This record gives sequence, structure tokens and C-alpha cells, in this order.
Amino acid sequence: MATDYYAVLGIERGASESDIKAAYRGLARKFHPDVAEDKSAAETRFKEINEAYEVLGDPQKRQQYDRFGTVPNGAGGGGAGGFGGFGGGEGFSDIFDMFFGGGAAGQQQQRRPSGPARGSDLRYDLQITLEEAYRGAEREISFNHLGQCQPCSGSGAKPGTLISRCDRCQGTGVTRNVRQTPLGQFVSQTTCARCGGEGTIIPTPCETCRGRGRVERTRSLTVKIPAGVDDGSRIRVAGSGEGGARGGPAGDLYVYLAIGGHDRLRRDGLDLYTDVPISFAQAALGSSVEVETFDGELPLQIAPGTQPGATYRVRGKGMPQVRGSGKGDLLVTVHVTVPTKLSRRERELLEELARIGSDHADDKRFFDRVKDAFSP
Ligand SMILES: [Zn+2]
Ligand SMILES: [Zn+2]
Repeated sequence: MATDYYAVLGIERGASESDIKAAYRGLARKFHPDVAEDKSAAETRFKEINEAYEVLGDPQKRQQYDRFGTVPNGAGGGGAGGFGGFGGGEGFSDIFDMFFGGGAAGQQQQRRPSGPARGSDLRYDLQITLEEAYRGAEREISFNHLGQCQPCSGSGAKPGTLISRCDRCQGTGVTRNVRQTPLGQFVSQTTCARCGGEGTIIPTPCETCRGRGRVERTRSLTVKIPAGVDDGSRIRVAGSGEGGARGGPAGDLYVYLAIGGHDRLRRDGLDLYTDVPISFAQAALGSSVEVETFDGELPLQIAPGTQPGATYRVRGKGMPQVRGSGKGDLLVTVHVTVPTKLSRRERELLEELARIGSDHADDKRFFDRVKDAFSP
């Protein structure tokens, strides 16, 4: 059985690459299951459209298809032949950008033409602190979702009653239409209108879920947040999304992380930034100061003659990498504070310093004088 991919996209054999892309985008927008009115019919069509575009949108595969009428299975295909990798193929990602703003949550796995539908994915937004991002954390979250109905175990049939096979499609969920054309025989499939593609009919629906197989429920679970996550990171909790209709597999839960600010430490990628105030005397003479980090006070040696705004880089004291064992750096910027109130003794000492240190007040001017003295 061969499918006429050109017919699926409604284009001529000699169509240009941009024509193919335009046709695909138009159709994908129209038949996307999340926007189409007749969902199950749209899903089948959407799958065909994607399959056709995966071949015709790739010049190499298209050439092969034009010559031999087929494309070998698994020839770099992310989604052909099954929707396990749906959304991962390059050609598909732009469609998902259009519908979901680039995120994978909300993305529905395509159901096979027959069999129960997979439940929707859910998105949960979780605010965590920078310290939790640094150490990793476990957070309890609770949310509402459609879970499997317990009395009927998700089947949708009243307990004790049977589910019967759909007589129109013989349980396949699709009706087939064979068409003879000058190019050969083409088989097109449509979702069975009687059972909606399920392949089964429920004569006596479950009273709790009214045949849907799912009920609204509050669910709590613990999310493990790995150390090093960044703002916007996403954690997938497989199988914790909505339950599938009529016992279908559950969708996934995506936890999106937003990381709050910290009063002392700022983050940029793997590096952490902080400021430390020191006195003029500490800057001039050198000193040891304590810098606040997530792992307690860190001693830092200030070199004699350190200038205001100087930055020290402490290697390996930044954020941990989510994957791998390395850490970023801690960058400590030194701020020289000028006292606003002086004791009598401090005033005396500073006045004396001012008298004997006047030549140093502006090292540049002093240097210029030396230079002038030696110029010809
Ligand atoms: Zn049917
Ligand atoms: Zn039920």
C-alpha cells in the first residue's frame, strides 16, 4: 500500500520546496487536533499530513519517494510510522511553536487510529528560591486533574457490564476507502464515525464518570528538583498528567520552574555574583573578609591596594551543573565604604593620614610630575 503524499498535501508533483511548506503549514493549522472541530477525524488527517511533509519536506527523501514510490522506514524519521517521537522531528517543531509557544506541555500525543486516547499533558508552575536551585529540593505540589475513574477502572462501562466491539469498523476504529487511480491503488482511512475511533461501544455507561472513564480529582505528589536548575527549567513527571479516556495511558506533568531572587547572591548562568563591603583601611592594607555563600561563610583574602569595584573570582563556588559534576564560579565585587560618622580618635588618625599621605592622593598626578622631571 502506497500513500500519495502529493495528494495528501494537495500539491502538484513538481511543487517547489516553499509550496510544499506553505501547503503543509496551512493544512497543519487547519487540522491540528487542538483547534479542529471534529477532533478524531482531524487527528487522523493531521497524522497523514505530517507523514507526507516528513517525506516531501526533505529533498533527499522526496527524491527517493519520487523514484521508488516509497521511503525506507526509519530513514531519519522522528514521527513516521508511529507517534513516539512526535514533536521531536525538525519539521514539526515550528508547528508546535505556533500553537504552544515552544513548550512541550499541552502538546498532545497523537492517538493511533484505534485504541484509547492518551490523556493530556499538564503544566504546573512552581516558584523556588535560588538556594533550592543551588542545592536541589523536593517540593510537594497538589493540583486538579482528570484521573482514572475507580469504579469502572477507566473503562467507562458500568461495573459488571461489557464493552462491545464497534460493528461499523469491526473494532479497528477506522473505515477504509480504496480508490483506483491511473497512478495505482490508493487507500485512505477515516476515523470511524460511530465509535469515534475507539473501536468499541459502551452500551451501559458507568454512573460515576458517565462513560468518560475519568473523573476530576485532586492529586498531590513530590517533585524532585535537581541541583543547578535554571529559571524556566522544566521537569517532566511521566504519567502524572490527565488520565486517558477509556483506560488510555495518562499524559505527563510538566513542572516549570521560576527561580526567585536572593538578597545577597545573583546568578548568571553557572556563575554567582555578590558584593562585599570593606573599609578604606582593609582595601589599602589588605585583609581577610567573610563572604556569605550557600555553604556558609567563605574566607576571602583581600590584597593590599585593592581598588573599589575590584572583582575577585573564586573558582568552583558558583551554581552546580544539572548534568555533570562541575560548578561555576563566585564573583565577589569589593565596595570600599566611606564612614559617615567618625569618633574623635578616628578623625585624628585620618587627619594625620591626610597630612602625610597628600603625595599619594592622586598617584597619577604624582607620576606625571616624575615624568616631567625626566623629559628632555
Ligand atoms: Zn467504529
Ligand atoms: Zn467510571
